[in-house]
Amino acid sequence: MDKMYTLPIEIVEVSPRDGLQNEKIQIGTGDKVSLIERAIEAGIRRIEVTSFVNPRSVPQMADADDVCAALPVRDDVTYIGLVMNQRGADRALATGRIDQLGAVCVATDTFAMANQGQTSNGSVDVAKAIIRSAQAAGKSAQATIAASFGCPFEGEVAEDRIAGMAHELAQANPAEIALADTIGVGDPSHVTRLITKVKAAIGDTPIRVHFHNTRGTGLANVWAAIGAGAHTIDASIGGLGGCPFAPGAAGNVATEDVVYMLNRAGIETGADLDALIETNKWLTEIMGKELPALVAKSGGFPAPANPQNSIDKKEETA
Ligand code: ZN
Repeated sequence: MDKMYTLPIEIVEVSPRDGLQNEKIQIGTGDKVSLIERAIEAGIRRIEVTSFVNPRSVPQMADADDVCAALPVRDDVTYIGLVMNQRGADRALATGRIDQLGAVCVATDTFAMANQGQTSNGSVDVAKAIIRSAQAAGKSAQATIAASFGCPFEGEVAEDRIAGMAHELAQANPAEIALADTIGVGDPSHVTRLITKVKAAIGDTPIRVHFHNTRGTGLANVWAAIGAGAHTIDASIGGLGGCPFAPGAAGNVATEDVVYMLNRAGIETGADLDALIETNKWLTEIMGKELPALVAKSGGFPAPANPQNSIDKKEETA
């Protein structure tokens, strides 16, 4: 197998932010914090915990400060706060609990105007300023290029455009640059081409990928991304997710489905599949609806030893 498939892969859990932001029912702060605690219990070490945006635009994220105040104190976990502008960056840094800012720029002007009220180039400038303010505060920042594989308003996005944006962002020295398939239109061959092109444009800056499974290509895209040299994958427990400003956007690739695939392929993620499946069941209750993820419905393979069965057996033989 290609040597890319022998390296460990880092999962960034995005359910507390991308997973929940588009959900109609307001999830309580306590439940959001429980979700974060469960992700940590399951072995995830980097979590997008909230976003610092206008609560009128994204009411689900109105409790960003309260979520941060309740985060478990852990030296070994990196908490990411998503921000769209300097005001959001200042708010995130003021909590004292955010380790890494998540800056977002958008590949097309129409989507950039809908998402954050600026041009595409303007969003790159703002993202660079956000990265630098994180660094000035002794923190790090990641950068995401939304609509890297296609735009809900403008359609196809030129690969050279994404490579150019990534090159610009790399000048600010972010922890990594993510290619986001915000509306889930990418295919594995596109993923391989784009990552190869972006890698050539950004040198040593690591690449993260962010896939939505809108059209069922999510896991295939994850596999292609790893083969092309991405080592960090955004994923959301239960496969929740969506974007309020991108018509038709559906869930992120599901953490448990990604972890199952990678575990079976012998790729280390540090995540515990059984704990993720338990969290899926808990989250299903909280959301009051079936979640898009698949593995929790069927269980892992081989099936884990069921402690309840062995207790029953003991009682029978006793
Ligand atoms: Zn997303």
